[in-house]
This record gives sequence, C-alpha cells and structure tokens, in this order.
Amino acid sequence: MAVVDTSTDTHREQIQGILDRTVSGERLSDENALFLFEHAQLPELSVAATKMRQRLNPGRLVTYIIDRNINYTNACLADCDFCAFYRKWNDNEAYVLSKEELGKKIQETIDLGGRQILLQGGMHPRLKLDFYTDMLSWIKKEFGIHLHAFSAPEIHAFSKINKLSYDEVLRALKEAGLNSLPGGGAEILVDRVRDEITRGKVDTEGWLEVHRVWHSLGGHSSATMMFGHVETLAERVETFRRYRELQDETDGFTAFIDWTFQPENTRLAQTHDLREVGSWDYLRTTAIARLYLDNIRHLQSSWVTQGGRIGQVSLSFGCDDMGSIMIEENVVKAAGANFRMTEQVLRDLVTEAGYVPRRRNFFYELQPDADLEKNA
Ligand code: SF4
Repeated sequence: MAVVDTSTDTHREQIQGILDRTVSGERLSDENALFLFEHAQLPELSVAATKMRQRLNPGRLVTYIIDRNINYTNACLADCDFCAFYRKWNDNEAYVLSKEELGKKIQETIDLGGRQILLQGGMHPRLKLDFYTDMLSWIKKEFGIHLHAFSAPEIHAFSKINKLSYDEVLRALKEAGLNSLPGGGAEILVDRVRDEITRGKVDTEGWLEVHRVWHSLGGHSSATMMFGHVETLAERVETFRRYRELQDETDGFTAFIDWTFQPENTRLAQTHDLREVGSWDYLRTTAIARLYLDNIRHLQSSWVTQGGRIGQVSLSFGCDDMGSIMIEENVVKAAGANFRMTEQVLRDLVTEAGYVPRRRNFFYELQPDADLEKNA
C-alpha cells in the first residue's frame, strides 16, 4: 500500500504541536499517530524521533550483536502468502537439521565472536516437545551460548501439537535452556490482516498471550512488525498500541524492530500486485514507532531489508541499535533481501553517522572492547 504525504502549510503548526508534546513526555494517541502518518514530513519526524531516542537512550552509542539465525527446519504446517521459505513436511525439499549440522553452525558463530543463536522454524507438524527440549539442552551443554528461540507461532504450535498450555510449554523450554523469545510472526497484530495473509498461524490474542506468559515467567522478548502489504496505516498504529499496552502490563520487551515486506518469490506479491514499499515509508514508519512506543527502550534498524545506507540513515529516525550481523537468514533471503555486511562495515557506517559502535548482548549489556579485539 502506498503512503501519500498530503502535508500542507496548514498542518505544520498542528504537527509541530503533536511532536513537541510527544518528545516532552505526553503519550502519542492513535489519532495523532495516524495524523503523522498522513501529513508529517521526513525532516520533522527525524528531528522528533532523534529527540525521543535521546530521551530513552542518551548519548552517542549505537549497539549491535553478532548472532546467527538458524532455521532448524523449513517444514511448516502454516501457509503464509508472504513466505517463500517453507515446505510441507513431506516435500522433497523439506529438512530438519541434525545435531552435527547445528553444532557446526554454532561453532562457526562462536569463532566469529557470536554471543547468541536465533533458532526458528518452520512449525513442523510431526515433531514433539521432547525434540525441542533435547535440542536446547544439548546446545546449552555443548556450547553454553544465549538461546533466542521460537517465535510465538511456534510456541502456539507446540502447545496445540502436545496439548499443553503456553505456560507448560514455555516452562519446559526455559528449563531446557531457552533464554529469550524472538518477536517473529507478529506481522501486523490485527486479525483482519493476519486472516488475509496467513493460514494455520496464531492469531493476535494468541501472539500477545505467548509473550505475556513468557514475561510472567521472568523472560524477555522482542517486538516486531512487518509492514507494507495489505495493512492500512490505522492497522500499523493498532499494532503499536497492542505492543504499548502489553509493555505497560509486563515490561518484558527489550526492543522493537520493524521491517518492510519482501515481495520477491511470494504469492502475496502476485495475488495483490504488491511491490516493496520504499525507504521513505520505512523511515517515517520507524520514526512514528519511536514516538509512539515510549515504553520500549530500544529500536533496531532493519538494514537487512533496507541496505546498509538506509540502515545508517535510520539512526537519524529513532534507531539506537543496528540489530545483528546475521550470519544466516534464510527466510528473508528466500524473499529477495540479500543485504550482508561485515562487522567492520557496520562499525564504519555507525561511525560515519556520528555515533560510536559497540557490541552488546541480548539484554543490551555492552561487550568490552577487548573482546572485540580478541575476536577481530
Ligand atoms: S512465515 Fe513462518 S509460519 Fe509462515 S509459512 Fe513461513 S515458516 Fe511457516
């Protein structure tokens, strides 16, 4: 969907008033967030989002993490129109990684200075909870690395397949070594949109409930939004609202990450004649997210879908983190996003933008520079 900037001079004063009040601490309402989407211009959003970023994360540090996204299976019981990655479990191209394959990927990650593994499927219809608890406890025992694993749709599928509650599933995974939950599978947290683009996947309330339960167990997770497909601007704002409300309740989200739908090789692009929304929409959506989500401290850049240069520019639109040097990302890659960069290139981009790059862990604790030199 296209976003049209219909700004006129008559809107300027009203927009400036909204932005000034928001950066001063007044919460952005849904109505005003929508007004910004429809009328605000990039420079004024950049100035306000940067002030908000400084309010929440004062100073010049821009953080990043080195991790690896391991898709342990591509077999999936769901059917998402935007996904070019999954296969049915009995398809010739379906796979489940062996421990040997997992171990090789994890060791490579550690050798490159990686501190975290992001494990995500596919939701395999034939694997039981034991498979996952065994996988986690084996990785913990062998490698002792932070396990950021299983998005809410996977937890929901484990719950259905094993006839267990979210609480029971999450406790078992935590016991086996799960450290944090990724925010994948949120797309847009509005069922009208989810029903149009996915089948067999958790609904909005279920997605939020998985994270609510995880937070109640003392866990942390991230929040995401994939936009630029069939959603309206009001539905983007509704997604922000659902996150802000849950964060008020639990304070369990460490970061928000928004990225644009990657249309290549997807059914959704063909059936709806969709093209990728551009950087203009990405930057304004990111800035409005920064302004709206006053209780989620960190905002990650999506350079993987936008490229390094727009990733750099996003630091002027509210982002304080460059996300990860992802060593492997099959889902986004399958849909056409192939941006890659080395740690040094990422650090150079941050420095060029006037910030100071620092490695972090999942909890945004800074990693010492000596560690960087050791692994350089
Ligand atoms: S996006 Fe995830 S849940 Fe949807 S079909 Fe692809 S692998 Fe399955």
